[in-house]
Amino acid sequence: MIVDTVIHARWIIPVEPESVTTAPSVYEYHALVIDGGRIIDLLPSDIARQKYQGTTTENLESHALLPGFVNSHTHAAMTLLRGIADDLHLMDWLQNHIWPLEQKWMSEAFVRDGTDLAIAEMILGGTTCFNDMYFFPEITAQQALHHGIRASVGLIVIDFPSVWAENSEAYIEKGLALHDQLSHHPLISTPFAPHAPYTVSDEPLSKVRTFADELELPVHMHVHETLHEVEQAKHETGQRPLQRLHELGLLSPSFIAVHMTQLTDDEIELVAETGAHIVHCPESNLKLASGFSPVAKCLAAGINVALGTDGAASNNDLDMLGEMRTAALLGKAVAGDASAIPAMTALRMATINGAKALGLDQEIGSLSIGKSADVIAIDLSQLETQPLYCPVSQIVYAASRQQVTDVWVAGKRLLKQRNLTTIDMTDLKQKLGEWRQRLSA
Ligand SMILES: [Zn+2]
Repeated sequence: MIVDTVIHARWIIPVEPESVTTAPSVYEYHALVIDGGRIIDLLPSDIARQKYQGTTTENLESHALLPGFVNSHTHAAMTLLRGIADDLHLMDWLQNHIWPLEQKWMSEAFVRDGTDLAIAEMILGGTTCFNDMYFFPEITAQQALHHGIRASVGLIVIDFPSVWAENSEAYIEKGLALHDQLSHHPLISTPFAPHAPYTVSDEPLSKVRTFADELELPVHMHVHETLHEVEQAKHETGQRPLQRLHELGLLSPSFIAVHMTQLTDDEIELVAETGAHIVHCPESNLKLASGFSPVAKCLAAGINVALGTDGAASNNDLDMLGEMRTAALLGKAVAGDASAIPAMTALRMATINGAKALGLDQEIGSLSIGKSADVIAIDLSQLETQPLYCPVSQIVYAASRQQVTDVWVAGKRLLKQRNLTTIDMTDLKQKLGEWRQRLSA
């Protein structure tokens, strides 16, 4: 049978089905067969050679093939602010540095060029899908489509005006129009993205809930990022933000709560009962000293926990391999238990759990037959990942993103032996130099 692509790999880590033993499921000397953008078979290489003839055939003799990473929370365009204001408290960082810079420079061009940088960096690091929250979401979607990466483009809602919209009503209206415009693109989804409990009031949040229910869209929001946020809300309203969101009817299996560093045992139970998802952003939380999310406790309670890098201004990279390692290490420290967040759990958080949080797990998150071919290859032959006893351990605890060699999204190759196929790096670097001059003036 003639098919589009056959990839023979030393190891294939499909992530699903979940292993019933403690050892992760890893196939050796297998092939992944792709046709029409979808995975149509996963079988031993010798049988694949008899059964399929690929228009393109890849032999990745020292590589592991795995589902592309799902970066479940980022602000792509903020790559332009990478390193411009570091080592500051969250509110000082936001109010005195990031928000004024955004106020001054926010534009379609800012979002276009910043998103291009983010997409290039994410593809080079093995991310095939990102969940974004930023101004000018139509530009983010346009650039994602242009470069062939999958994106969940947040319809941002915030009370204060920006060059994109003058008030929360306008944000919602523009968001709804954008949803209509993009709903036929298979690579793009459009969750609502109200910024945070302290920047969006009750009325727009109720509207978001109504429209999200009607259109069956997820709702993506920063929640309980810091102790300060929770204390201030308690002081002003007598209520913790999560309780307020629950009373507004937002907590549900389509709610994506980002950060959640402040959680009581009762709140963990509430999140588990409502089926809401948590996106853990350990490096952003560490850099801004926001607090520590009790991830092991949340997982034990049955909550789906995904992983995100957050924006590059607070991380400062969009590196999901790094984020997995930090999540595994920090999760152990916070739990006081070295067996918490094993390598395979961290890998699931970066792949299938992200797909579940975004409502895309029928389509992506694992190398399962029928799913979209969102696939990455990591070369494990380098010294830094030798000797090799367990590929999952090497990927989570030792590999760097420079070892990601090839990336496919919906069967289309976006990275070929470390070369980006859809992004002109020379042109991008030129634009970044211009932004550096403007922003640092
Ligand atoms: Zn964020």
